[in-house]
Amino acid sequence: MTDVTFESLGVSEPLLRALAAENYTHPTPIQGKAIPAILEGRDVLGLAQTGTGKTAAFGLPLLQRLSEDRSVAGPKATRALILAPTRELAVQISDSLKTYGRHLHLRSTVILGGVSQNKQVEAMKNGVDILVATPGRLLDLVRQKQVRLDKAATLVLDEADRMFDMGFIKDVRKLISFLPKDRLSLLFSATMPKEVAHLCDEVLRDPVRIEVTPKKVAADAIEQTLYHVAVADKRGLLHKLLRDNDAMNRVIVFTRTKHGANKVEDQLNKAGFSADAIHGNKSQNARQRALEAFRSGDIRVLVATDIAARRIDIDDISHVVNFDLPHEPESYVHRIGRTARAGAQGIAIAFCAPEERAQLKAIEKLIRQPLTVIGTPPIEAMPAQESHAPRHNPHNNRPHGHKKHAHERNMHNNPAHKPHGEKRDGQAANNSNDNNNNRPRRRRKFRGNRNGQQRAA
Ligand code: AMP
Repeated sequence: MTDVTFESLGVSEPLLRALAAENYTHPTPIQGKAIPAILEGRDVLGLAQTGTGKTAAFGLPLLQRLSEDRSVAGPKATRALILAPTRELAVQISDSLKTYGRHLHLRSTVILGGVSQNKQVEAMKNGVDILVATPGRLLDLVRQKQVRLDKAATLVLDEADRMFDMGFIKDVRKLISFLPKDRLSLLFSATMPKEVAHLCDEVLRDPVRIEVTPKKVAADAIEQTLYHVAVADKRGLLHKLLRDNDAMNRVIVFTRTKHGANKVEDQLNKAGFSADAIHGNKSQNARQRALEAFRSGDIRVLVATDIAARRIDIDDISHVVNFDLPHEPESYVHRIGRTARAGAQGIAIAFCAPEERAQLKAIEKLIRQPLTVIGTPPIEAMPAQESHAPRHNPHNNRPHGHKKHAHERNMHNNPAHKPHGEKRDGQAANNSNDNNNNRPRRRRKFRGNRNGQQRAA
């Protein structure tokens, strides 16, 4: 491999000095691709999550371009606008740009909600080179005519998918309407739901598309396992796994909702497992405390929502548990990428309830491999012809899709009844590999269930 350096990418000397002081010896993959493209003046669509080095990927060429063209914005205006969904991210971006640009003497400021606007108005009075902002407050100030965006010839939209999740897309569109049409636009997003794809079409002109996802990691270094389990039995399964397996010593459990995260955390603590939860409704301090306790090993389980987990950068996570399957298959890849960092072997465990099969299907399609089923799948997950397979189970002969009795559901789904590798109905031990070998036909059959897929999608 050729040795790519920041210098070989065309990064200027004052920036190289700052990078050396930060011990950035080599560009990350997204930096290697984005820096030359942006320096050339190309729009960029970056599919990358936090932790990939995306801030420097757009920040370095942005700083360099602004420093090479020393025009001034004028009162209340900015030459570059960076929009971020949260205050934390905006502050982090601003801090990083100050670090990288410390030898360049560019003026920058931050506009955020939740604090008095007076200082922000004051900071914009004579104009700045770079404005980092969250959408809501910025729109307020633009409407009050305290900020002008007509000189913002560079736009960066960071974590665009999160902007959408948080309901900011309308504000973002409005803000963009104040920008000059002739501009450089850079958009970064960890995932690409339809709404973000539409935004890209509106905002970007012939962009260079750069994708940096942990897909490879997912395929190669992470053991990805799957339990078919009823929603009501997920808690019992999680507790059992934690009880039986000491190797699960630093575990992230993902839930789809904040409420779900609180509930799982509460149940874990009541059962004697040390756990804390992080999600959007927790204060910054509470989140920080939870992360520190998790990092130091004081708590064994961190329960998180996808959005809260974006900021987590913790090594040595032993297991990632997908307590709920995400609606977006890409989120699954991001979740499991939390384990197996730095070349270590990681283990991902997914819990799939009958109503989540469409999500499972989407995940397996994205990662182009089936998850390894542990234990015995429930009857609904099997195709009709396999229902007749010699499993010596009288219930297998009922028509496909037929509802099961409650006791049966327990038998199939409740971990208390069905430990990994158990012998069933006098059969040989049913280990995960055997199961996996039997799986493809089953899965293909299930894919035919379009109704379920469309409902859940
Ligand atoms: P980001 O994805 O921009 O949030 O960056 C993730 C972390 O990686 C931050 O702590 C950066 O300071 C760090 N980082 C970014 N680029 C590099 C690099 N080329 N070498 C070493 N660290 C980096």
